[in-house]
Amino acid sequence: KELPADSVIDNHRRQVNAACFSYVIPKKTAKPEILHVSTEMLEALGLTEEDSTSEEFKLIFTGNAVLEGTKPFAMCYGGHQFGNWAGQLGDGRAINLFEVVHDEKRWAVQLKGAGETPYSRSADGLAVLRSSIREYLCSEAMFHLGVPTTRALSLALSGDSVLRDVLYDGHPAYEKGAIVTRVAPSFIRFGNFEILASKKDVPTLKALTDYTIHHFYSHLGTPSKDTYLKFFEEVSERSLEMVIHWQRVGFVHGVMNTDNMSILGLTIDYGPYGWLEGYDFGWTPNTTDREHKRYRFGSQVDIVGWNLYQLANALYLLIGEAEGLENALANFRTMYDTQYLEMMKSKIGLFTEDKKDKELIVALQKVLHVTETDMTIFFRKLSDFTLTSHPIQCIKDAFYITDEIDGVVTEKWQEWFDFYTTRLQKETLSDKDRKVKMDAVNPKYVLRNYMAQLAINAAEKEEYTLIDELFQLLKKPYDEQPENEKWFAKRPDWARHKVGCSM
Ligand code: AMP
Ligand code: MG
Ligand code: MG
Repeated sequence: KELPADSVIDNHRRQVNAACFSYVIPKKTAKPEILHVSTEMLEALGLTEEDSTSEEFKLIFTGNAVLEGTKPFAMCYGGHQFGNWAGQLGDGRAINLFEVVHDEKRWAVQLKGAGETPYSRSADGLAVLRSSIREYLCSEAMFHLGVPTTRALSLALSGDSVLRDVLYDGHPAYEKGAIVTRVAPSFIRFGNFEILASKKDVPTLKALTDYTIHHFYSHLGTPSKDTYLKFFEEVSERSLEMVIHWQRVGFVHGVMNTDNMSILGLTIDYGPYGWLEGYDFGWTPNTTDREHKRYRFGSQVDIVGWNLYQLANALYLLIGEAEGLENALANFRTMYDTQYLEMMKSKIGLFTEDKKDKELIVALQKVLHVTETDMTIFFRKLSDFTLTSHPIQCIKDAFYITDEIDGVVTEKWQEWFDFYTTRLQKETLSDKDRKVKMDAVNPKYVLRNYMAQLAINAAEKEEYTLIDELFQLLKKPYDEQPENEKWFAKRPDWARHKVGCSM
């Protein structure tokens, strides 16, 4: 809707009805400073490196200036958090600046951490440097891993101090404030639909759904009940594809609430995420979820299914009958089984069919849990295995406890490798070709939790070169990078389970 000429933009916290978003004004900051810019995203938006060094760039992408003719806004959404309906949430610290159409692609550009909005509830609308570095590095790393994701254009300091903690002695602990510019075709989430459905606001729900289909699913055709169902089916497919990639690379999102589920099937909201080190279905990086472990590695695909169920409930208001939606959800289960198996098979270099493949994968997942085994190193090293290799020698670098690989561990791995060796003989590819295919799905370099932490520790001391080093490294995660071999290493002892939630 057009903004009435006499309206006053105000950011005060409130419940918002019959609207999908609210106009807001980003907060001015004390001393903005751009720390890093993604050259690729500059290009995607039609900007040059020279543009990125300008004063205007700095002011706009820290919220200190609003580009003429644009009207920044924050979106209204709700969500199920940890399984419970949470009511209105919304962009509490994200502000959409504008959209850019370049090279026939449409990009929404938004600031994260640029001040309060009507949706900030009890929080400050700001972000700290540590969580901003994590989002900036990880979203770009995920893109280069081939995982559907939101992107990042820039990382900046606001120059303000942000209060995040009060120490035991009662002293406030301030951190450096930061702003990430995020970019995606759209930031619409499942929660945008849910909030309207929860209020039975069918006209606005229909407007939002029609808008989403028109801009992002236009191949589905004009709005109708049938189109809405097809829309749901495609959102399910895209979300499944996204989470299967997470399982492939060992990414654990940590807060898969429905407000963090993109309607485009993009990985969104890099908060307390983490990367698997030891292959462990039970692991979650989110320290606030350590009791129930709702969002643990081994549950992520099921949780996407649960979240889709919530979206189906919202779209039901437009469709009016459950059967199609129920079938789509059942179909999700079937696709899940098939695609998960295909993905796991590709990781171990199997490209033909065999009726025992599922059994082989289940057996592998069991043996990976016998002793702490580094996921990234294991799968990368496995591509060197041939029928004449010594199995334990080939993968022993992936074990965290190396000095006493005991009888049980050796025996279980030997058993699995016997199974695998027999199966490999049915494959048709040469060892060399199999290795090429395996190395293209098993990354050599991921953003291990301790790596982001090192970049954060340095940045706290105003040393920013490691941010760029990791940024460049993670642009080619599947390549051998001999000069960067030090990053192909197990987590150091000091970092064990230390890295957790970050807001
Ligand atoms: P998240 O757990 O990051 O998905 O955030 C859940 C909700 O809290 C969303 O509505 C966020 O916008 C909001 N939120 C998180 N951090 C802040 C903050 N520092 N200031 C305002 N809102 C926030
Ligand atoms: Mg969120
Ligand atoms: Mg967040």
